[in-house]
Amino acid sequence: NAADNAARWRRDFPLLSTRSHGQPLAYLDNAATTQKPRQVIDAISRYYKTGNANVHRGSHDLSNRATTAFEQARSTLAQWLGIDNAATLIWTRGTSEAINLVAQSWGNTHIKPGDRILLLQSSHHANIVPWQLLAQRTGAVIDVIPLQDDNNVDLDAFRNLLQRMPKLVALSHVSNVLGTRYPIEQMCRDAKSAGARVLVDGAQALPHFDVDLRLIDCDFYAFSGHKLFGPTGIGGLWGRQDLLESMPPWQGGGEMIEHVSFTHTDFAGLPFKFEAGTPNIAGAMGLAAAIEYLKKDRAAQEAQEQMLMRHALSACHQVPGFEALPGGDQPVALFSFLLKGFHQQDIAHWLDQKGIAVRAGHHCAMPLMQSLGLPGTVRASFAFYNTLDEAERLAHALDELVCSQKSQIDVATVTAPTL
Ligand code: PMP
Repeated sequence: NAADNAARWRRDFPLLSTRSHGQPLAYLDNAATTQKPRQVIDAISRYYKTGNANVHRGSHDLSNRATTAFEQARSTLAQWLGIDNAATLIWTRGTSEAINLVAQSWGNTHIKPGDRILLLQSSHHANIVPWQLLAQRTGAVIDVIPLQDDNNVDLDAFRNLLQRMPKLVALSHVSNVLGTRYPIEQMCRDAKSAGARVLVDGAQALPHFDVDLRLIDCDFYAFSGHKLFGPTGIGGLWGRQDLLESMPPWQGGGEMIEHVSFTHTDFAGLPFKFEAGTPNIAGAMGLAAAIEYLKKDRAAQEAQEQMLMRHALSACHQVPGFEALPGGDQPVALFSFLLKGFHQQDIAHWLDQKGIAVRAGHHCAMPLMQSLGLPGTVRASFAFYNTLDEAERLAHALDELVCSQKSQIDVATVTAPTL
């Protein structure tokens, strides 16, 4: 049953039983990075204890075994994402590096002065800045798809902007600030019919629901392992094979070549052409272990985190002055909120003192904050291993904050000297 499942999942994550400021840790900052199950920690440790060698250049058994396990990890990820050819999945350090790869390799080749690049108002900086740098290098122009008041994407505005024939549309599958799940299948179809190439930032989607890339008509899909219960420093870029094949390398070095002389280099094929230098071998193994872990109970985990978010929201709505930002039609398990009269950093600090970890600030989405007219928000983001008790602790702590302020005002009113 659900309670047994939740208790079992929680036991898999050693860090969740630690304390913070003397209280049991309530980790509600999963959109920043998730905690790691012991299966992931063990896979990394096992690799270093019994399998550590460099890959793809082995003259010995240990290296050959490391290569097999490393490429097996790629296949595990590829299969999970519905990718037929694992060679079209490039390892990167994460989403940011994946987007930079496309902006530099594909972008430098295809974007010309006056070309248009279409971005989403709620984009993470990782899906803005690489395009801005590209626009500065090439003389391209950036347009922005606005959101509606309910924070759903404004599809009419999007279709109008497509009439400007952008060369590239860079979308987010899920907003890391609002939790909004965008209608990416429809948006990719529209963008492709308008002749654009499409990149999707999947950093906040994969942690919450399964994605089958065969059903999404995009050209590139980027993600990070550390938001997906895997280690930091590993992530990936999937790209359409013909595009990847036609793109020049973006970093040079070992691993990515066939033949080198001082006058000429023949590059390796996919995926190695885009993987210069010794890769994050342990990271790939840890991430594959995370995927194996997720594959077991995904539907139940998704239901659990949705239930936790709803519970937290309804408890928080009892707190005077609490306001959650709308998350659109189908939000994933996170929400941004404000508390009237309190600065977001003070709220996060107060919660931290109670052992509750949330994130305050602009969440690497300053243009979204500007459009909402806010300096920042507090964000609570859930994973399947959170508990109802933690959801209630969040609401209770906010209530205490409001009450403490009120009593200070009362005291001030009563004791203020009359001048
Ligand atoms: N895009 C989104 C939507 C994100 O939430 C994040 C991480 N906050 C990133 C991109 C960047 O991911 P990374 O820092 O792992 O490269």
